[in-house]
Amino acid sequence: MTELKWGGATDVGRIREKNDDQFLLASPLFAVADGMGGARGGDVASNTAVEALKAAFNEGSDADALVAAVKAANRAVFEKAGSRDLRGMGTTITALALLPAPEDAKDGTGEEFAVVNVGDSRAYMLRDGELQQLTDDHNVPGELVRRGELTTEQAAVHPQRNLVTRVLGIEEDVEVDVWQLVPYAGDRLLLASDGLFGEVSDDDVATVLRTEADPDAASRKLVDMARDAGGHDNITVVIVDVVDDGGRAESASKALAGAKKGKGKGRSEADKIDSTEEVPVAAAPQADEILPESDDEPAPHRKRPSGVALLALFVVGMLIGGAAAAGAIWYGRSAWFLDTDAGEVVIFRGRPPDGFLWVEPEPVERTELDLTELPPDERDVVLSDTSYSSLGEARDQVARLERRAEAYREEREPPPTTTTTAPPPPPPPPPTPAPPPPPPGP
Ligand code: MG
Repeated sequence: MTELKWGGATDVGRIREKNDDQFLLASPLFAVADGMGGARGGDVASNTAVEALKAAFNEGSDADALVAAVKAANRAVFEKAGSRDLRGMGTTITALALLPAPEDAKDGTGEEFAVVNVGDSRAYMLRDGELQQLTDDHNVPGELVRRGELTTEQAAVHPQRNLVTRVLGIEEDVEVDVWQLVPYAGDRLLLASDGLFGEVSDDDVATVLRTEADPDAASRKLVDMARDAGGHDNITVVIVDVVDDGGRAESASKALAGAKKGKGKGRSEADKIDSTEEVPVAAAPQADEILPESDDEPAPHRKRPSGVALLALFVVGMLIGGAAAAGAIWYGRSAWFLDTDAGEVVIFRGRPPDGFLWVEPEPVERTELDLTELPPDERDVVLSDTSYSSLGEARDQVARLERRAEAYREEREPPPTTTTTAPPPPPPPPPTPAPPPPPPGP
């Protein structure tokens, strides 16, 4: 039996006001979710996704069932995002589960890890001291890296990192990446939101993973490092250690000594290469076991572009094509919209979700205006997904709303004196008709 030890930590960071990340330690299921939507329910999205994933997950099921659980989580977020206050929220999810591996269950050690991912959070594995990223980032620089147009180093500082190409909650269905791998004693798996790897280099992450044995302490240490490095985003880390593999590593070594080639599992060599490209793995038996999984077709799932992926590729194409940064910058950044944070109207920069590319918005200007100060019909102006082409335009709209709020306040204040229903007792003498009497003076 595979034995695990785990830990996790999260922190709001040093810039954001609330933590929209969420993590789950429910062995054999672990997850990290990074909620988005500016003020509009990022925390609700990540929490909904994690709870729905947990509810839909069945211990003892297989990787396909884990994918189905992620799709259920997507629907749960999508349905909640239909309500006005939460419209447009979304979340990443990266999850890991230890599952029975039906193919060699008879030897009693037949277990595997399934890793699933949607969005730009990540799963890594430390094996034999080497850290490798298991998941693909579903954002514009990630697409560019996969096309060989960008190095991972360039992607790490790319200005369009916030252009997410796939998240939960934006469409009714979602494509889920899935990997399966055989756990060996000593393996250390890391799930993290971008608040970690946006601040701390992979080398520094690897150093901590190699030196801090306790998964809880290592998680906290990584979170602290990201905070110290700037803490621009919420930071979440989950670490899962394989402390015992039931002798699997030992028998694998023996088998390897006997037969040159690793045991085939019915998947083609091409599939394996697809998931392990650019991934340095030290020992042969382990490398052999890192297998990609296609949900239901023989072709690798990532080769199936959805409408979303096609539009992402179009934008990526523009980037590569020389219209270059202009295209994506126009798309992702040169838009402002209004939303609320703690009831207050805030100008955001970014792009409200449109179901294609999703740009994580950032608050750029707070106002003194509270949503409840506005007449109901004007609240829609704030909550709708209207975008403005400049900050000035957004400010003009806010100024107009402030005037409307002022008028609305005045409208509501005078009522006690102008009520037409039952004011007879308090002001009995009609004040205006009274003046006539003065003339008697002469
Ligand atoms: Mg984040």
